[in-house]
Amino acid sequence: MTIKAVVREQIRQRANFACEFCGISEIDAGGELTIDHFQPKSKDGDDSLDNLIYCCVCCNQFKHDHWSTNPQVPQLWNPRRGPATEHFFERIDGMLQPLTEVGAFTLSCLRLNRRPLVAHRLLKRQEDEKSRLLTYYRERLRVREQLLAHQAEVINDQQKRFEEQWRILQFFRGTKE
Ligand SMILES: [Zn+2]
Repeated sequence: MTIKAVVREQIRQRANFACEFCGISEIDAGGELTIDHFQPKSKDGDDSLDNLIYCCVCCNQFKHDHWSTNPQVPQLWNPRRGPATEHFFERIDGMLQPLTEVGAFTLSCLRLNRRPLVAHRLLKRQEDEKSRLLTYYRERLRVREQLLAHQAEVINDQQKRFEEQWRILQFFRGTKE
C-alpha cells in the first residue's frame, strides 16, 4: 500500500523537509525525498506515522530493510525516539563521531560519513559562520550608528547652549556701552 498524499505531506513537514538521518534537505537533493518504514513492512512494520521516516535516497538504500531482533545486533538510531545529538557529535572537520553503540552502528550502516555528506556539513558550517559574522557586524554597525546619533544630539545641544551664552554676553556688552 502506498502512503497517502496527506500523510506524506505530514511526514515532510514533521521532518522539516530534510532527511531525518543525515539532514540533507529537499533543496540540497533537488527534489522530494523518500519515505522509509523504520521497521520494514517485510518485517511486520506498519504505516503508522511513528514508523515512518522521511529519508534521502542514499540513506534509504544503505538502511535497506535493516531490523534487528537479535539483541547482539544493535538497532539503528530511530529519529522518533531521540535527537541525533544523543548519538553523534559533529567534529570541526565535518565528520560525525559516535557517542553511543547505536550511534556507531548507525554511522557505519548508513555511511553517515560519506564524502559528499562531510563536504555538505563543512559548507553548512562555513555558511553558519558567515551568517554569524554578518549578524555580529550588523549589530556593531547599529550600535555605532546609535552612538553617532547620540553624539550629534550632544553637539547640537552644546551649540544651542553656546549660542545662548553668546546672546547673553552680547546683551551685557550692549548695556555697558
Ligand atoms: Zn539521508
